[in-house]
Amino acid sequence: MLDTSAEYLKGVGPAKAELLRTELNIQSFEDVLQHYPYRYFDRTQVMKISEIHAQSDFVQLAGTLINIAEEGEGRRKRLVATLYDDSGQIELIWFQSISWVRNSLREQGRYIVFGRVSFFNGVPNIAHPEVDLVNAENIITGLQPVYPTTEKLKSRGITNRSFARITQSLFEKISLTDVPEILPQGYLQQYKLCNRYAALRWIHFPDTDEHLEAARYRLKWEELFLSQLKIARLRLQHTAQPGYLFKEVGQHFNEFFSNHLPFQLTGAQKRVLKEIRMDTATGRQMNRLVQGDVGSGKTIVALMTMLLALDNGFQACLMAPTEILAQQHFRGIHELLEKMRVPVALLTGSIKGKERKDILNRLRDGSLAFVVGTHALIEESVQFQNLGLAVIDEQHRFGVDQRAKLWQKNEKAPHVLVMTATPIPRTLAMTLYGDLDVSVIDELPPGRQEIKTVHRQEMSRSRVMEFVKSEIGKGRQAYIVYPLIEESEKLDYESLMAGYEQVKIWFPEHKYRICMVHGRQDAAERERNMQRFIKGDADILVATTVIEVGVNVPNASVMVIESAERFGLSQLHQLRGRVGRGSEQSYCILITGNKLSKESAQRMNIMVSTANGFIIAEQDLAMRGPGDLYGTKQSGILKFKIADIVQDMHILEQTRQAAQQLVAEDPTLQLPQHAGLRRLLQNEARQSHWRKIS
Ligand code: ADP
Ligand code: MG
Repeated sequence: MLDTSAEYLKGVGPAKAELLRTELNIQSFEDVLQHYPYRYFDRTQVMKISEIHAQSDFVQLAGTLINIAEEGEGRRKRLVATLYDDSGQIELIWFQSISWVRNSLREQGRYIVFGRVSFFNGVPNIAHPEVDLVNAENIITGLQPVYPTTEKLKSRGITNRSFARITQSLFEKISLTDVPEILPQGYLQQYKLCNRYAALRWIHFPDTDEHLEAARYRLKWEELFLSQLKIARLRLQHTAQPGYLFKEVGQHFNEFFSNHLPFQLTGAQKRVLKEIRMDTATGRQMNRLVQGDVGSGKTIVALMTMLLALDNGFQACLMAPTEILAQQHFRGIHELLEKMRVPVALLTGSIKGKERKDILNRLRDGSLAFVVGTHALIEESVQFQNLGLAVIDEQHRFGVDQRAKLWQKNEKAPHVLVMTATPIPRTLAMTLYGDLDVSVIDELPPGRQEIKTVHRQEMSRSRVMEFVKSEIGKGRQAYIVYPLIEESEKLDYESLMAGYEQVKIWFPEHKYRICMVHGRQDAAERERNMQRFIKGDADILVATTVIEVGVNVPNASVMVIESAERFGLSQLHQLRGRVGRGSEQSYCILITGNKLSKESAQRMNIMVSTANGFIIAEQDLAMRGPGDLYGTKQSGILKFKIADIVQDMHILEQTRQAAQQLVAEDPTLQLPQHAGLRRLLQNEARQSHWRKIS
C-alpha cells in the first residue's frame, strides 16, 4: 500500500505528482508520510477581529464575507474582500489566482479565515488567507501542520494547505495494518516508543501536545537508529572484507626512514604508523580515520603508509578536497621522494588531454606508483592496476558515498586512510565516521610555540598593520584573509578587491611584495601566486578562504583575519593553523567591527582563550548546529528529516548501542523480529540504485 504512487491521492493527479517528485522527491504514499511538518498553526482558537493588535501574527477569524471585488490593473491587479464579525472588520487580499479565488468565494458567505496579519498604514489586513465555509467538510481544526515546501510548488498552487489535505486524504485510505512496524517489537517497550502508525498520524495531525511529543521522539529514534544500523552494518562489512596483505616493511619505507626523513617522528606519529602497520598486516581491509589538529604532521604519516603499500607491490593514491591542496601535497611528496625515484603524478580536473591520458595509462598498466589528486580520482575513467591504499586528506568534505566509490576501484577494496584536521565532536564522528577505526595524533612536532591570538576592532587597525610591518621586517610573511560571503560570489570578489587596495595603501608596493589568491582566478594563476608566497617571493598573501585547509608555509608567522565575525569557529581555527608551522612565535589577529553580536563576541573569546581544536569543534557544533558544519550542508551528508544530532545526542547514543547490539546478534537480519528492518534496507538499496539510473 505505502509503495503506491502519490499520484493516486485525492487532489494530486499526474501533473502535481510530477511536481512533487521533482521538487521534493516525494513519489509514494510512504514519501508523503515521511514529509514531516516543521511547525503547526494553532487552529483551536477563534479570535475577534477587534482583538487583532500590532503584534498579532497568525490569526483565525470567523465572520461574513462581503464586497468581493477586483481592484487595480495589470500587474497590480488584486482581489479584495471584507470580512466582518460582531466586533469589527478586516480586509482580505489576493494577488494571485485571482479569478479562481473569486469564483470560489460566496458574497455574504460565513467563513473561517486563517492567515498572517500585516499592517498597511496602521490598518490590518490578511494577504492570501485560507478560507473555508463555516460548515464545509474537511475543515482543519486543532493543530494544523506546516510543511517544508518550495517556491515553485507554491506558485503552482500546492500550498501548505493542499499538503495538509493530501496527507489527510492519505490517512483516510490507510489504517494501522497498512503501516507495519519496522522496529523490533521489543524496542517499543524497552525504549518507550509509540508504534509507527501512531507516530506518523500524530506528527501530521497531533490531537494533543503529548501525542506530538511521543510522535517526534519515536520518529527521531527511528531515523537515528536506521542511520546507526547502516553504519554498524557497513563497519561489519569492512571488517569482514578481505583486504590486501602488506606483509613486509620493505626497501622504500626503510630507505626513506633512514635517509630522507627530514625530522624525527613524534611519538604520536610513530604510534599511528604502528596502528596502520597492524591493520594492514591482518589480511582484512583497513578503514582508519587519523584525527590530528592542524600542523600535527599527518602528511608524513600518509606518505610513509604509501611507501608501505609500494613495498608490497601496490599503487597508492592521495585525494585532497581542493586543487591547491592537491598541488601542494604533490609538490611536497615529489620533493621528499625525489632522490628515491618513486614515480608520482598529479591528477586534477584541470589536467587534460595528452598529459591526462598518459597518467591514466600509467595507472592502468601499474607503472605509476603514486597519484595525488582531487575528486578527479574517483571518476570512472581512472582505473588502477592494483590500488592497495587510498588516502583521503581533509575528509569532511567527502561523504561516505564518495569513500564507497574508492572501495570499488578494485576487485578487493583498497585500504583506506582518512585524515582530518578538523577535530570532530563525538556525535558527528558517530554519524560521519561510525564505520571507521580512529587514530589520534595528539602531539605537535617539537619546538612549536603556541600561537598568540588577539581580537582587535576596526579602530585599532593602524596598530595591527604596524605590527604586521614589524614582523615582515624580521623576515617573516603574513596572511591577510577576507571572508567568503556565501550568497554572492560577486560581493566576495568586490570586498576582496577593496581589501587588496587597502592593503596596498598600508604596504606600499615599492617596499612590500604582495600577492593575492582567490576563487575567481584560474588554477594556473592561483598556483603562480601561491608559489610566490610559498617560495618567500612575497611578504603578504591576500586571500579568501581558498587557503583554509592544509596550506603549509612555515615562514609565515602572522595571520590577520578581516571581518572575523563572519567566520565560523572551525574555520577560524583552520585559518589560524596556517601559522605556527615553523619555530618562530606566531600570531593570529582577529579583526572585527566595533559592534559585535553576543554570539560573535563569544566566538572571538573562544578563539582567544583556547587553541584546542576539540574544544573549538564542540563549541562550534553547539553554537551552529550540524547543518552548517564542515560543508555538510551542500553535500547532504548529515541530512536528517527530524533528528538533530546535537539536541538529540542522548537518542543518538541509545540508537548506536541498540544498532551495534542488533548487528552483533543478527548480522544479516534473518531473525523474524528483524524482517521489517531487512525489507526496509533492501528496499532502500534498490531505490537508491533505481534513482541513480532514472
Ligand atoms: P597537518 O597535520 O596539518 O597536515 P603537516 O603534515 O602539513 O600537518 O605538517 C605540518 C608541518 O610540520 C610540516 O612543515 C611538516 O614538515 C612538519 N612536521 C611534521 N612532522 C614533524 C615532526 N615530527 N617534526 C618536525 N616537523 C614536522
Ligand atoms: Mg594537512
